[in-house]
Amino acid sequence: MGKPKFAIYWAASCGGCEIAFLDIREKILDVDRAVDLVFCPCLMDTKYEDVEKMADGEIDVCLFNGAIRNEENLHIAQLLRRKSKVLVAYGSCASEGCIPGLGNLTDDEGICRYSFEESPSTVNPEKVHPQKSTSIEAGELTLPGMFKYVRTLEQVVDIDYKMPGCPPVAAQIWAVIQTILSGDLPPKGSVIGVSPKTVCEECDRSKDEKRIKEFLRPHEIGEVDPDICLLEQGLVCNGPGTQAGCGALCPQVNMGCRGCYGPAEGIKDLGGKLAGAIASVIEADDPEEIQRISDQIVDPVGTFYRFSLPGSILGRKI
Ligand code: SF4
Repeated sequence: MGKPKFAIYWAASCGGCEIAFLDIREKILDVDRAVDLVFCPCLMDTKYEDVEKMADGEIDVCLFNGAIRNEENLHIAQLLRRKSKVLVAYGSCASEGCIPGLGNLTDDEGICRYSFEESPSTVNPEKVHPQKSTSIEAGELTLPGMFKYVRTLEQVVDIDYKMPGCPPVAAQIWAVIQTILSGDLPPKGSVIGVSPKTVCEECDRSKDEKRIKEFLRPHEIGEVDPDICLLEQGLVCNGPGTQAGCGALCPQVNMGCRGCYGPAEGIKDLGGKLAGAIASVIEADDPEEIQRISDQIVDPVGTFYRFSLPGSILGRKI
C-alpha cells in the first residue's frame, strides 16, 4: 500500500497558515516520509486539472486554508471536497472567515470602490476596475468573480474538522498531523488542534476582580506589569471567550489576546460574548460614564469580531 495522499490549499488568506506548516521545522521530513504530498500550490507546480483527474476520495487528507471570497475559491473548495476523504478547515480564515471576513462590513462593490477609486494611494481618474473578462490581442484574460460577501469553508461545503488559529501554532499542527497519521480520528465535526479551555485559563498572569475605569491602547499604557492580567490594567484582552491552544502567546508579550483561536466550547458568537464580558467589568454607574468608557474601545467590531465575522450569528453588515 502506498503512502496516504495529502493536500494543502490556500483560498482567500495571507499564506501564514502555509508558513506555520513549515514552522514544524525538521518534523517536515517525518511528514514527507509518512505522506505523499499530491497538491500544494504554494510548494509544487501541480495544476487544477491534475486534481480534476484524480478519483473521488483519492486524497486522504486535505488541509484547506483561506476563506471563500471568489468563484475560484468556491470551485476549488467543491473540487477538493469531492477528491478528499477528510477535509479540514485549517486556520482561522477557513474556519471563521478571519481578516478577509472583515470585508463583510461592506460588500464586493464597496471594497472595489475603495481599493480602485477612494484609497489615499490610488490614482485612477478613469475609475478603471478589474473585469472578469478582458480581450487583448493574444486572447481573452479572465479573473474569478468576487462574491458579494466572504463565507467560511463550512458555509459552502461539508467539512470534517475545524482547526482554528491565525495561524495555528506549530505544536498544534504537529499534534494534528500525528493524530491524522495514526488513523485514530476524532468524531466528525470536532474542533482539533486546541485545548479544552479558554486563553484566560492558559494564561499565567495573576487574576483578580476586574473593575475597569479606563481602556487604554498598548501605546497609551506606558509600562505594562508583566504579572497582572492585562484586562485589569485596562488593555482589551479577548482571553475570557477565546479557545485555548496557542499557549496564551499574545498575553505573554504584553499584548491582549486577539481571539484568533475562535470561540471556546459552548460559545456560539465570540464577538457578542466578548463584548458582553468586557462590558460587564466596566466600573461606572451612570450611563454617560459607561458610554465614555466603552467609547475608548476603538473599532469594537474589529476588536471583538476580528477573526469571526462571517462565521458569527451576525455574519455581515446588513
Ligand atoms: Fe485572561 Fe487576557 Fe487577563 Fe490573561 S491577560 S488572564 S488572557 S484577560
